[in-house]
Amino acid sequence: LEVIASVEPRVADATRAELADQRASLKLIASENYASPAVLLTMGTWLSDKYAEGTVGHRFYAGCQNVDTVESLAAEHARELFGAEYAYAQPHSGIDANLVAFWSILAHRVEGPWLEKAGAKNVNDLTEADWEELRNELGNQRLLGMNLDAGGHLTHGFRPNISGKMFHQQQYGTDPETGLLDYDAVRAKAKEFRPLILVAGYSAYPRRVNFAKMREIADEVGATLMVDMAHFAGLVAGGVFTGEENPVPYAHVVTTTTHKSLRGPRGGMVLATEEYAPSVDRGCPMVLGGPLPHVMAAKAVALAEARRPEFKTYAQQVADNAQALAEGFLSRGATLVTGGTDNHLVLVDVSSFGLTGRQAESALLDAGIVTNRNSVPADPNGAWYTSGIRLGTPALTTRGFGKDEFDRVADLVVDVLRSTEPGTTKAGAPSKASYVLADGVAERTHAASAEL
Ligand code: PLP
Repeated sequence: LEVIASVEPRVADATRAELADQRASLKLIASENYASPAVLLTMGTWLSDKYAEGTVGHRFYAGCQNVDTVESLAAEHARELFGAEYAYAQPHSGIDANLVAFWSILAHRVEGPWLEKAGAKNVNDLTEADWEELRNELGNQRLLGMNLDAGGHLTHGFRPNISGKMFHQQQYGTDPETGLLDYDAVRAKAKEFRPLILVAGYSAYPRRVNFAKMREIADEVGATLMVDMAHFAGLVAGGVFTGEENPVPYAHVVTTTTHKSLRGPRGGMVLATEEYAPSVDRGCPMVLGGPLPHVMAAKAVALAEARRPEFKTYAQQVADNAQALAEGFLSRGATLVTGGTDNHLVLVDVSSFGLTGRQAESALLDAGIVTNRNSVPADPNGAWYTSGIRLGTPALTTRGFGKDEFDRVADLVVDVLRSTEPGTTKAGAPSKASYVLADGVAERTHAASAEL
């Protein structure tokens, strides 16, 4: 930090302050974690200074032998860890990984067959009229993904995201009574809509998914099954999700982030069957530019960590802690979407405390508890204010929290929510975003957090 401070002290100050914040608060954002010092240090090296567009052994720049080594290691560890036929370590983020997946599927299923039919080797051989036809064909495909307020991600066909614009899209939700995925309803929608791509995976669904059933549905309608395991990759890697709950043997293409429950650097990855591998391998230049060699190196380090036996213990603890957190909430009268959890996150419906998600999120932050507001199914408060808060166990499990500590966390959260008065600003004027935290609660909670 001293070196950084000698150039731009404000960056050094913000970095120091972030460390203090992360130490002084309870980090319950379900998509965050604490990467190891080995992972963090690997990101801060001169590998960052190298351009390496292309793929391993086939680069558009000279001198890429060391980048080839780290990219190959990241892919090899990913293949071994997940039992995948092919792994692509270049995507810079989860969104990039999903874009690579979408365009790889389009290349494999639409562009390839179209070019073959037209007797052309690649798009450079096409006339303007041919090109127009191919572009229409590519732009005329259908995608079926999970609704945002049922727990899906915005890249799964949400209109404001490019996935909702480049495809004709429809979404499946969850059962209005139970909040659970209804596979028969997904099947019925898929049969009616006949998507090219069926997307499974989630950001805020507190349950496991049966990927064998999703594959069956995809096969019935001739769709490619793409699973976005960004949130639960750590639980797959650690052997908590096995059999039909492990997407890798069932999906044609699997995408993930590397920084959530997997506990690596910020980044993305794509796993694929051999059939889809050649098109995924063209992620650069199809969607991506130069890869981030320092981050691919950090992915290799994180994946090597995830192959150690300790990671299995960690992943099991993440799931056990989520159970303890859910039970802690339920025993104190809170309402949970789906009535509980069997993964790494819980979704609390805070409307029973008379709060919006936004008020709850702000009150908890004042008390040193970092969560995020989240829509609940058919949320009457919309995606900005919301009626829920999402809490995950990966980060605090890394800090060594067990079930007792998570029960205490539930106690603190409920205490803050009960002590929050909605609907008035501190000056007294009503406002949808405002709340008043009862005197002493923030101090009490900060003190308890420090003990934890
Ligand atoms: N996919 C899912 C399921 C996610 O939850 C997220 C991030 O929250 C992403 C993709 C996007 O990841 P990133 O923020 O790295 O682009």
